[in-house]
Amino acid sequence: MKIIPITLPTPFYIGSVNVYLIKEDPITLIDTGPKSKETVDVLRAGLRNAGISISDIRRIVLTHAHEDHCGLARAVRDEAKEARVFVHGWETGHRAGRLEYEEHRQLLLRAGVPSDEVEAMRKLYNNFRQYADALDDEHCTELIDEAELEFESGVLQVIHTPGHTPGSCSFVRHADRTVIAGDCVLKRITPNPILSVDPIDHSLRFKSLAEYLVSLARVRSLAPTLVFGGHGEPVRDFEELFTRYLRSMRERQAQILRLLPDNGGTAWEVSRALFPDTDDVHRFLAVSESVAHLDYLNLENKLALEISDEREIYRKAD
Ligand SMILES: [Zn+2]
Ligand SMILES: [Zn+2]
Repeated sequence: MKIIPITLPTPFYIGSVNVYLIKEDPITLIDTGPKSKETVDVLRAGLRNAGISISDIRRIVLTHAHEDHCGLARAVRDEAKEARVFVHGWETGHRAGRLEYEEHRQLLLRAGVPSDEVEAMRKLYNNFRQYADALDDEHCTELIDEAELEFESGVLQVIHTPGHTPGSCSFVRHADRTVIAGDCVLKRITPNPILSVDPIDHSLRFKSLAEYLVSLARVRSLAPTLVFGGHGEPVRDFEELFTRYLRSMRERQAQILRLLPDNGGTAWEVSRALFPDTDDVHRFLAVSESVAHLDYLNLENKLALEISDEREIYRKAD
């Protein structure tokens, strides 16, 4: 059961995205890349090199529903006719009817983001929607933690690895401890725990960093020898990466504790102090990262959280 990586261009700042072909019955594509002419041309060429075409694909499995990973899923499914799309039930993003704008807006306002900034973020994200077709539930099969995707000569086990998004999944081949991890494990950058609505209680925020740390520990428990990420080269030394991620998280938290004024501040204020020069989409990513760390510091009782004027204020705990 050979895993064939195909690297595809994206119009996004992150650069290229990796998708993975398993050329064995049922022929499976893990992630698809974004919906763009350039991407689909490179995908066709990559599949041709492997001796297949889009119409041979029987299974499309998504690590998560961000545009750069899932955008072409519907077009590939339509062309492949009999293909089914597999995605975790907690994945929102581009599954039809699940992008709950008002809930996201409330999350951003509570994090202290001014309303004109929220509006600017909304416009940006609406613009991103051109890179993904919405998926309807009727054509999706839910990925279930620990379920097995069977192939002719082996299996990939689904490992639910929430954090980057609530429904992020990884796939492990136990025989040689190879993991396909989407954006849960990236060689050169620390994955951003994206601000998300809690998939169970939509009035709450998903505890992305706490969930992410559990997921990382879970991947570590698989003792992986090779991890294929959503972007960049594969990771061969997971232990080194794990230690580096933890160190950079601790450093970021220490930095936040240092810069938080004595009278407290919102996640938005923290994000502007941490990343003063960011603009457009990076402002959203910066506020996501700030919320993730502030929530984690609150969970660890290092920061208190109060609501004032419907905004959340974090204050150093006494
Ligand atoms: Zn992603
Ligand atoms: Zn990505």
